[in-house]
Amino acid sequence: MMTFITLIARNRLAAFGGVMLLLIVLLVLITPWLPLADPNITETANRLMPPLSDGHPLGTDALGRDILSRLLWGTRISLAVGVAASLVAALIGSMIGIVAGYFGGRTDNTLMRGIDMLMAFPYILLALAIVAVLGPGLMNALYAIAIVNIPFFARNIRGVTVGIAHREFIDAARLSGKGNLRILASEILPNVLPVIVITMSTTVGWMILETAGLSFLGLGAQPPQADLGSMLGEGRKMMLNAPHVATVPGLMIFLVVMSINLLGDGIRDALDPRLKSGALSRPAPFTRIRRRHKPLPDPTNDDALLSVENLQTDFEVGHDTYQAVNGVSFAIQPNECLGLVGESGSGKSVTALSLLGLVASPPGVITDGRVALAGRDLLDLPHGDIRRLRGRDVSYVFQDPLATLHPLFRVGDQLVEAIRQHQPMSRADARTRAVSLLGQVRIPNPAHRAEQYPHELSGGMRQRVGIAMALANDPQLIIADEPTTALDVTVQAQILALIQNLRREKGTAVLFITHDFGVVSQICDRVAVMYAGRIVEIGPTKTILETPRHPYTRRLIDCVPRLGEPDNEPVAIPGLPPAADALPEGCAFAERCDLAEDACRQGNIELIATDTDRQVRCIKPLGIPTPSPQGVTR
Ligand code: ADP
Ligand code: MG
Repeated sequence: MMTFITLIARNRLAAFGGVMLLLIVLLVLITPWLPLADPNITETANRLMPPLSDGHPLGTDALGRDILSRLLWGTRISLAVGVAASLVAALIGSMIGIVAGYFGGRTDNTLMRGIDMLMAFPYILLALAIVAVLGPGLMNALYAIAIVNIPFFARNIRGVTVGIAHREFIDAARLSGKGNLRILASEILPNVLPVIVITMSTTVGWMILETAGLSFLGLGAQPPQADLGSMLGEGRKMMLNAPHVATVPGLMIFLVVMSINLLGDGIRDALDPRLKSGALSRPAPFTRIRRRHKPLPDPTNDDALLSVENLQTDFEVGHDTYQAVNGVSFAIQPNECLGLVGESGSGKSVTALSLLGLVASPPGVITDGRVALAGRDLLDLPHGDIRRLRGRDVSYVFQDPLATLHPLFRVGDQLVEAIRQHQPMSRADARTRAVSLLGQVRIPNPAHRAEQYPHELSGGMRQRVGIAMALANDPQLIIADEPTTALDVTVQAQILALIQNLRREKGTAVLFITHDFGVVSQICDRVAVMYAGRIVEIGPTKTILETPRHPYTRRLIDCVPRLGEPDNEPVAIPGLPPAADALPEGCAFAERCDLAEDACRQGNIELIATDTDRQVRCIKPLGIPTPSPQGVTR
């Protein structure tokens, strides 16, 4: 509820509409206690007095009645009728919609054809016809407006109900023994309620307008009773000699309807979870870059295929800044496989996505660093160039292939699209290449499989399609973000063998993200261990696995269960990683480290070189008496 109000308040227009409406409603609520003239007392001596006259702030009308008093009483009636009509329409319409949508079949047909009949008439005409039958009067106008608005609710709500009536949680409710009525009340209603509220908030303004329209035509409020429509109708006849008589109610109608509609739109945006999660603020095609200064290239990485220097990526959510990647540096040589390991949430995926500007912005911002592919600073390239690089020079394989493949296209067509995006090639040639790619990733009977949809393939096969897609344009670098985490061990072994083959045959370099040291030891030449957005240790896989220098690395390795060594029980690391918006001073791991001392919680702890090819971010690296001071890098 609080968040709902904050969301509305943040939307300036909606907040404005809300405040305006609140003022109007307050004013009409206290009207009976205000020192106003009786709205219906005629005083022909005082007829058509202009606004700001003595005793009549807004003047008087043709019968000498006080316009301010009539305005407030009239607004009261108009609001009450409009809101009552929309409540009636919402109640009946939603009930029809829910029942039709839930039961379906003949019930649905009968109800909805009835609704169609109502909708077959232009609704103002229908309202006029209803009032003509019932006779003029405020109550009859209310019925007419309510009836003509029932179809909007019925159709909207039926659509939503049909969408959820066959979902698994409804089946689950049925299996738990609930009857139809209980299911309707406890499963369906809470899910359609936001839609009902949204439909109401966006139609109540119209209903007020329609009621005013009927009164304007003399079919609603009957003299001497005033509502906004009838006041407007009376004023129309003296538009030229006493314009204020019509202008005042006209202005009020405008204010009421405008404020209700502004607020209604705000409510719709705030209640619709898709809009809330940022569908309105679509991420930019490239992550926002706001580097404090342009870093100079590091000459030691000249021959590297990819060099990442001091990369920093933040998420700016409201007033909070989450430092997801906090000064990460590494290099990958051609044909090399670098592993990036770390607990969930340590910033591995954000690091990988930052390389080609794929972090969603907002909220992501790259605040510092340099990413160079074969010497070119990617964070400096025009967006068009980056787009051409994506999928051609650098390609990604993600963890969940079902989410990355389009569910409605055949896998072959998706591969063809990936190929033709970067290579000018006829559709038939691209198709041949697609089938051969599927063969390369060891998919049996590739020509047949290319004709299938993603849901027809198993998880392992889908992941192989994902890899085939990453290979489509012979990239120099493949970034694989936990590609085997969702797979069973046999398929995982096949995928790893596949990646090894690729490196051997095509010289591809790989950045392999995983949380599994077993996988690292199989395919990575070097490994970088990440903790709380920073690299805490980097070096050759073999030496790091044998003699970890950082206590965190050692604990991570100890967490891996080993087959055939029952005595070797995996030990969990106590505690939790620090929150990304409140990183502690000193070593981020100090809180969980059994070797930590006071010095670990002070200042900035640098990555230091302990051996020629290894670096560790620890002031007391394991197995080293005192770190060599001359080897200090960043
Ligand atoms: P992992 O190492 O498991 O891949 P991630 O790189 O996905 O971790 O996430 C690193 C940190 O960034 C986490 O603390 C996560 O909460 C935060 N984060 C990731 N995406 C977003 C986002 N869109 N908005 C805010 N914070 C995010
Ligand atoms: Mg991840």
